[in-house]
Amino acid sequence: MTSSKPTLSEHWQSLLEFDQQHIWHPYAKMPADTPAIGVAKTQGSIITLADGTELVDGMSSWWATLHGYNHPKIQQAMHEQIDTMPHIMFGGLTHEPAIELSKRLVKLTPEGLDKVFMVDSGSVAMEVAIKMALQYWGSKEQPNKNRLLTVRNGYHGDTFATMAVCDPVNGMHSLFSEVLTQHYFAPAPQMGFEIESNNEDINALKAMLEQHHQNIAAVTIEPIVQGAGGMRFYRPDYLKQLRQLCNEFDILLIADEIATGFGRTGKLFACEWAGITPDIMALGKTLTGGHISLAATLATSDVSDTISQGTPGLLMHGPTFMGNPLACAAAIANIDVLMNSPWQDNIQRIEEHFKETLLPLKELDGVADARVLGAIGVIELERNDLGPQVQAKSIENGIWLRPFGKLVYTMPAYNISQQNLTTLTNGISKAIQKV
Ligand SMILES: *Cc1c(COP(=O)(O)O)cnc(C)c1O
Repeated sequence: MTSSKPTLSEHWQSLLEFDQQHIWHPYAKMPADTPAIGVAKTQGSIITLADGTELVDGMSSWWATLHGYNHPKIQQAMHEQIDTMPHIMFGGLTHEPAIELSKRLVKLTPEGLDKVFMVDSGSVAMEVAIKMALQYWGSKEQPNKNRLLTVRNGYHGDTFATMAVCDPVNGMHSLFSEVLTQHYFAPAPQMGFEIESNNEDINALKAMLEQHHQNIAAVTIEPIVQGAGGMRFYRPDYLKQLRQLCNEFDILLIADEIATGFGRTGKLFACEWAGITPDIMALGKTLTGGHISLAATLATSDVSDTISQGTPGLLMHGPTFMGNPLACAAAIANIDVLMNSPWQDNIQRIEEHFKETLLPLKELDGVADARVLGAIGVIELERNDLGPQVQAKSIENGIWLRPFGKLVYTMPAYNISQQNLTTLTNGISKAIQKV
């Protein structure tokens, strides 16, 4: 019998052996139990592995590649920027890519967010958001307002300030509990985008604000979709009420749109579902369409003016690669491609397809729930140890997924072809039935 399994070249075998022995991957052992899979190249919604296998990408590299890999317009913008100025320090200097990007961010984000701080990654965008909130209250001479309130099942990043507002259980806080700042945790918003709620969740949050508002600088939340902390969707009315409560108790609202920004939920920003403007908003992942790392924190003039009028009057942050021109050029091109595309139609097309193909999987044994919002599909399994098997089966079915815990989820590129979309959902369905 001949095996049809593709084989790896010796060159790749030795690369992967080095990788396994020397290179850490996200949340991974060293050395890894199973070696990482080599990738040779990407194009559109296709990932080509080192052994030549082609996979339809279901992950958009963790929400990022909105228009697929190697988008020609984004690549062209990056090529042109590399030839003129890949990088220049931002202290005292400025450049067109930073200005053009910021113009777009001010214009497109909810009304009122018109100050832009650019950083390198999502976690740091949230660090800056938190720092803005603390400096805001310091400037108002209310330094006792130095704690945050957040909801359970949240995810805001891997750095220390952001870990402290991630879900305390699945964020594995206990490992660092000695050094993390203690914040207030309200119950997670009730699951369900379209539900009528009895508001038990928001009332519990309100009770905490009533009791502790004198110590609370800001509420941090992922609007509408809680991502890495559980892939949970919740109703816009919750967010609307949260905005009102923050006003009532004189607390800033930080919206983390690092995953939801730029269309994924069907609105350009998830805050739009509730028609609210947060005081501070973090963007990341989706900002360059997955072509290079860049993130940004936006704030209202109230936030920036208050910080400026206080002591020392400066926002105390300034990364080396702040406003990197190459990353800004990619972000400008990404946003222009998005705004010139029928992205709402695409999200709706993907949502309808997911509803038809993924929601019925709810009926399968071992599946606890299936849910869809915008271009996000989630299958929640009953057991939390099947991820690696689902991933292996997915590859056999020609698709790339990266389940975590109980959650098998997918968020493809908006412009994925109908054929690849069908391959993706067939592959998910088959993988789950096998496992
Ligand atoms: C991924 C993510 C972050 C962290 O971004 P990094 O670029 O990984 O640092 C923060 N918040 C949310 C909602 C995210 O999805």
